[in-house]
Amino acid sequence: MSQINALPASGINVSFEFFPPKTDRMEETLWRSIERLAPLGPHFVSVTYGAGGSTRERTHHTIERILKETSLTPAAHLTCVDASREEVDEVVRQYRDTGVKHFVALRGDSQDGVGQAYVPRADGYRNAAELIAGMRAIDDFEISVSAYPEKHPESPDFATDIDLLKRKVDNGATRAITQFFFDNEVFERYVERVRRAGIYIPIVPGIVPIHDFTKVSRFSKACGAAIPAWLAERFEGLEEDEQTRSHVAAAFCAEQVLDLTRRGISDFHFYTMNRADLVYSICHILGLRARQPASAGAEAAAA
Ligand code: FAD
Repeated sequence: MSQINALPASGINVSFEFFPPKTDRMEETLWRSIERLAPLGPHFVSVTYGAGGSTRERTHHTIERILKETSLTPAAHLTCVDASREEVDEVVRQYRDTGVKHFVALRGDSQDGVGQAYVPRADGYRNAAELIAGMRAIDDFEISVSAYPEKHPESPDFATDIDLLKRKVDNGATRAITQFFFDNEVFERYVERVRRAGIYIPIVPGIVPIHDFTKVSRFSKACGAAIPAWLAERFEGLEEDEQTRSHVAAAFCAEQVLDLTRRGISDFHFYTMNRADLVYSICHILGLRARQPASAGAEAAAA
């Protein structure tokens, strides 16, 4: 087997991102996915915080359940949107008291929607850098933050964007997780820029498996992640062909992460969309193996 096809296997760290479910059915789907992915031994699993804090209780509930029912390490996403500093600090303290030691600290988007100008509350944290300083004043947490290989859409230029990342690190951020991207050259150039700015925390690529190309394209536009023409071409004409779409998605995702490993990347953060199938396959390709039976269902199928 050539070097290029060798399994990366050891030294790979993964983390998985979930969103808090809205309905009982969605909750079941989420927990099936957690059960399937947990044996892969993720470094941590994070749970998002809905726009404008709309999922505050549901995020908290999901995090609590992860703490109670699994041995996984949860990371709670938290934004500054539409909350005073005191309110946000109280949420942080509540999490700390339930055993949470890791946050993904974010500013969040305008309540008027993604892409609309963000207006901070007069008594609130103005951005993630300020939020991190507030968290650090409460306890010695592990704090992950966002990073934008194609720059944040509100940023006038890369220098401004990276300057804010530097402020987040100076205030205590320990890891950056990137917005998803599809062109690894873009990621590599971004990491070089970040290092030149004197930022040395891990910059972990955020990987989105393309379950639904139309949805991902729509979301990409809103958050400033480019879809290369060659990638769009791969999904061309597959709108009604779910099976082929999912094979193409798996092939592309495998290609992307394996190329990143060849560029020296060993940590990956997967935006799971609460689905395990594609992420499980990609982790398998990365050389990760379940440390215990993935689930009773999988055992039965294997027998
Ligand atoms: P910040 O890091 O505070 O700022 C983002 C950028 O905006 C900066 O890089 C800078 O370029 C610009 N900017 C901010 N303030 C200023 C200023 N004063 N002057 C000039 N430029 C400025 N959203 C959710 O609602 N819930 C989630 O759970 C969630 N999880 C996420 C997880 C990850 C890994 C990522 C990458 C994004 C996530 N988001 C989430 C989306 C995020 O909330 C949006 O991208 C939001 O617009 C910016 O939040 P932030 O923390 O990146 O902001």
